[in-house]
This record gives sequence, structure tokens and C-alpha cells, in this order.
Amino acid sequence: MSAWPADYRLAHTLAATVERSGVGLHSGESCHVRLAPSSLPGYRVGWLDSPQQPLHRLAPSQVSDTRLCTALQLGERRLTTVEHLLAALVGTGVSQAEIWVEGEEIPLLDGSALPWVEAIAEAGLTPLGERALPSLPAEPITVRQGEAFVTAFAAEAPRLGAAVEFPQPAIGRQLFSLTLTPERFVREIAPARTFGFREQVEQLLAAGLIRGGALDNALVCDGERWLNPPLRFEDEPVRHKLLDLLGDLALVGLPAAQVFAYRGSHGLHTAMAAAIDAAASRPAPGPSQPFASAVSPAAVLSV
Ligand SMILES: [Zn+2]
Repeated sequence: MSAWPADYRLAHTLAATVERSGVGLHSGESCHVRLAPSSLPGYRVGWLDSPQQPLHRLAPSQVSDTRLCTALQLGERRLTTVEHLLAALVGTGVSQAEIWVEGEEIPLLDGSALPWVEAIAEAGLTPLGERALPSLPAEPITVRQGEAFVTAFAAEAPRLGAAVEFPQPAIGRQLFSLTLTPERFVREIAPARTFGFREQVEQLLAAGLIRGGALDNALVCDGERWLNPPLRFEDEPVRHKLLDLLGDLALVGLPAAQVFAYRGSHGLHTAMAAAIDAAASRPAPGPSQPFASAVSPAAVLSV
């Protein structure tokens, strides 16, 4: 694709179908995904082995687990690790698409959204006319867990920020923010890979929880150094946090909001998506309430 849309004012779907396969992080099994154009807004998931079944329109209410990745319960089936694919779709300006899946996971590929961006570029985009982004009340919405929080308030254009603080000197304190456009997403956010910590990766591997996890699909931090350099950006971890934030917010669409996540996690991000969904679907804007979230413990591996 020669150029991405300049902004998010128009709805877009894919111009053609495109397919990718890869190993699932958690199962270690091969997973297959077909992305296809959709005439309906939002992202809809179907199963390649049951093409007659109605598709599931993705929504924050389907979130079932956020410990290692964002997992959804779609009817009888579970679908895990949706966030990087959703970030690629929403970030490039694809506001509606069908996602056909074989297996229970979206393949992790290289741990970033870049392979999905390349797949979307291969399919091309079809503009569909103006779209309305989910709007927020004027007062900020905040979701927090201990010291960590995500806050969002109405803005004309999507503006995202994230900060992380880790005791490991290889990461330390990092801050990244930007006014999002498809071009900036592709260039500055999509290539940032998942990261984890050596001792936790070893524990998770021993527990059989990340059978597909390896040094080629996650950056692994060992205190003062990375086990598998080079990094794609000096501040790749915080950019990946922004990628995850965007992918989790995609469950409600791309909000016309400024959103900031301090030590964000999939639990916090998806709780914010649910809060935006509730605020946006309220019949009339009311006074905002601090959103008391019941999120799961912070992920040990930021996927
Ligand atoms: Zn991630």
C-alpha cells in the first residue's frame, strides 16, 4: 500500500482477504487467521471450521482473562491474544473487518503488530464514508489498580500516552505519547515487540503457560541487559504498552479521546474499554463516576 489514510475520519474496511499462520504463544500450536472485508461496523470473529455460525461482534463484555494477554469468551469458544491484531486494524484505520480463526489463539508472529500491518497493506483498504468515533463525556474517566491507572477524556483527535516504571535498569522509566494517525501508528508503534523478564519467562515455560514463547517473539529482559538485542527502538517497551492499550481499546473502537496509561496492563486497558463503552452508550451524558475496577493482578508478562 502506497499510503495510509491521513486520519481516522473515514470508515475503512479491507479491500481483499488476507491470511496469516503462526504459532500460538500459549498453546504452542499452529493458528490460522483470515482477515476479510465487512459491510458492518466493528470487528467480527468467526470460526473457519463453522462458517455457517453467526459472527461475534467484539465488545469489552467478552473479556474473560487478562493475565498474560487479552482473552475473549465468544459463545462456547475462547480466543486469546487478540490485542496485537486489533491494534493493527484500529491503528491503520480499518474500522470494520471479519476475523476468521482456526484454533483458539491469534498467532503471536514476531510479538509486534508489524506482521499484521503488512497483511493489511497486502489486502489494501476500501474507504466507506464518514464514521463516528465513540465519544466520551467531558469529565475524565479513570480506572485504577493500586498505583497503576488509565485515564481518558474527550478530545478531537485520538491522543495516546503511556508511562512505565520497572526496577530493571534495562527498562527503567519510559514515557511515550503521540497524536495518533495511521502513518504514525505504522512507523512508531506497530514494530514494538512484546517483552518479558527472564525469570518469569522461565517460570511460565516450566508451568506450560507459554509453550510458543521463545526468544524470536518476545524481548526478554535480564536486569541490566536484554537477552536478545538489538531493540527496534530505545524505548521499545513503553511503545509496546501503547500498542497493547490501543489493541485493548479497539474492543470499543477508536475513541475520540486523550488516553494515558501509567503502568498499564491488559486488565486496566480492557476495564477502560468497558468504561468507555458504558459511557458512550449512556442515553444522556451524566456526571462521571470514578470507575472502580475489578481487574486481575498485573500481568507478569506484558503481551
Ligand atoms: Zn502486547
